[in-house]
Amino acid sequence: MDLGPPKAPLKDALDAWLVAWDPRERLPNDPVELVHRYRSPADIEVAGLLASSLAYGRVDLFKPALAGLLDRMGPSPADFCRTMETRADWLGLEDFTYRFNRGADLGCLFWACGEALRVHGGLGPLFLRCLEESRAAGKRGAPRGGLLRDALAAFSGWLRGRDFGPVVRRLGPPRALGHLLPSPESGGACKRLNLYLRWMVRGPDAIDFGIWELDPSLLVVPLDTHLARMARVLGLTRRRDLSWKTAEEITGALRRLDPTDPTRYDFALCHFGMSGACPPGPRAARRAPSALAPDPRRTPVRAGWGGGEAKLPPRPPGGRAESCRACPLRPACPTGRRITGRR
Ligand code: SF4
Repeated sequence: MDLGPPKAPLKDALDAWLVAWDPRERLPNDPVELVHRYRSPADIEVAGLLASSLAYGRVDLFKPALAGLLDRMGPSPADFCRTMETRADWLGLEDFTYRFNRGADLGCLFWACGEALRVHGGLGPLFLRCLEESRAAGKRGAPRGGLLRDALAAFSGWLRGRDFGPVVRRLGPPRALGHLLPSPESGGACKRLNLYLRWMVRGPDAIDFGIWELDPSLLVVPLDTHLARMARVLGLTRRRDLSWKTAEEITGALRRLDPTDPTRYDFALCHFGMSGACPPGPRAARRAPSALAPDPRRTPVRAGWGGGEAKLPPRPPGGRAESCRACPLRPACPTGRRITGRR
């Protein structure tokens, strides 16, 4: 889809907004807050992969489950994974459950992290090796997103392909390891893997860690329902699906705003949509009820070691037009200008 020339007013509005906005306000609503407990790169990598892999469903449900896991892993998640075979206590994984995943899935993830640490010296070196191999095997002139997709497929394939015999003997077979570590080969946006990459590659800043030596211009946005809606609202895409193709298209539009760091706006845009500050129109709310108000009859939720009540984004008083009039993005937002008139 041709999105036209660079959108200078949108870049100006987004940049001004980012200067005025403190992203740390939204950290309690984001899994990355738990990764900021750690200082060593090995612990950040392991905790980051765990946090991003489990970041599906509602944040008020997966975050207590994730915090419980990290608490039980002790001060160094990397050490836990490295020495898992010799430990008598496996965190009580036998009883762990969060939606599709069971303790055996988590056991396999930790086991694979331990192997990555032993064999490659860490998850970062493993990913960089996957990237180099994808680059060597790829076609000249292939799109950047294609290279990243191949590298991510190789990365998650390597992790899923370990010998999990000791885990299976102790916890039983994994139930949904492919959901925990998906592959972009299926065409999905692989939001959680791209989120992990953003954390490891961008920055360092208040949110992202910047501990991997990789060019941030290669990154693809971690596409979820919130970012997808904001991208449509701002005219960055017209696509409605949550596919890798849509993620690439939105990344391409953001690359026009910042060619060196296209995912720079991702955290702010996603949390703006998630917070309810940009309320969905009635048609969008009807079309994607699971994103905003999950139907418990259709999406049963069970979380081990804690959980929480469902919380919906607060509806701003005054409705959509009032939100748009107060919105810092309105001067550059085609939807906001349509809702409020072009005054
Ligand atoms: S101007 Fe309105 S529609 Fe546009 S981003 Fe702001 S709140 Fe959303």
